[in-house]
Amino acid sequence: FHNQLVELRGNIRVFCRVRPWIKEDGDCKITGSSVLTFDPMDDGVLTVANKSRSQDFELDKVFNCDVSQRQMFDEVSDLISSVLDGYNVCIFAYGQTGSGKTHTMEGPPEDPGVNQRALKFLYEEARASAWHYDIEASVMEIYNEQIRDLLNPDPINNKLEVKLRPEGGLHVPGLVRVPVHSLDEVNEISEQGRRNRATAATNMNEHSSRSHCLLCVTVTGLNSVTGDRTFGRLNLVDLAGSERVSKSQADGARLKEAQNINKSLSSLGDVINALKNKHSHVPYRNSKLTYLLQESLGGDSKTLMILQVSPAEKNLSESICTLTFGQRVRSA
Ligand code: ADP
Ligand code: MG
Repeated sequence: FHNQLVELRGNIRVFCRVRPWIKEDGDCKITGSSVLTFDPMDDGVLTVANKSRSQDFELDKVFNCDVSQRQMFDEVSDLISSVLDGYNVCIFAYGQTGSGKTHTMEGPPEDPGVNQRALKFLYEEARASAWHYDIEASVMEIYNEQIRDLLNPDPINNKLEVKLRPEGGLHVPGLVRVPVHSLDEVNEISEQGRRNRATAATNMNEHSSRSHCLLCVTVTGLNSVTGDRTFGRLNLVDLAGSERVSKSQADGARLKEAQNINKSLSSLGDVINALKNKHSHVPYRNSKLTYLLQESLGGDSKTLMILQVSPAEKNLSESICTLTFGQRVRSA
């Protein structure tokens, strides 16, 4: 039933979540009201307008700033549950730094986001099922086109590579996969990933905005009565900030980071677009991110892009860039 619903809506869905005002935006009473308006008749349309320009964006669903972490999760739980049926699912949070990507995916410990709720959900569904499921999680980061294992005991000096098996299929030799047997383990995985990421970074805020963070879950199911098996993957990705960096402001290292981010975000857009338009060539190998996720993108896999935007006028042009990216990858 879940899958029928998902299929009706296409394999690529695009949501938008607008974060609430925060003090960094300034006082909204002084700086004016939000540049975003929600269509009261259609919860998939967002209008972005200030005095000089106005543009409508048609998406699958738009969430205003009142939407709770729980409500957000309720909207994605059908996708998560399809992983138990053997589907591959990718959920990306896309947007400029400060737009709420990490809040949506990771969230504060007292009000966790999609990542922790998804693991807990999978664990609970698996326990309640007549099938036997093995759930394993890994946490990785991609920074400057290098993949790092955040569950490795040495989170700094490890470098992962994506390899092609002689018999076909991709694998990542050495990647740590932690079995999920209890809710404590769910919390521990989130916590350890967070801790290891911070260990390796000199400035956590800057670092996290320039790297992609991935929680990858594999779910193997066995029905001991019929002998049927399933294998599904869930990839939850907090992408690097999508903001454009001006060449004049960036120094050598910063410019290289910016180019790498740009390359992987545009490759992701190109891959989803090629899949959507059923191109015979899908350019997975143009970035580590798309190569790593190759087997979870395409075929009958399901992709959800959560566009994150700020309500503030000063972020208007980046918000438009984010929404334009979303329109490009959305299924017609
Ligand atoms: P990003 O990861 O895109 O850089 P963050 O998730 O760190 O952005 O969000 C920026 C700030 O906005 C943080 O202080 C975060 O707590 C806050 N924030 C983002 N989304 C929400 C939300 N839905 N509710 C409350 N606070 C939010
Ligand atoms: Mg972040």
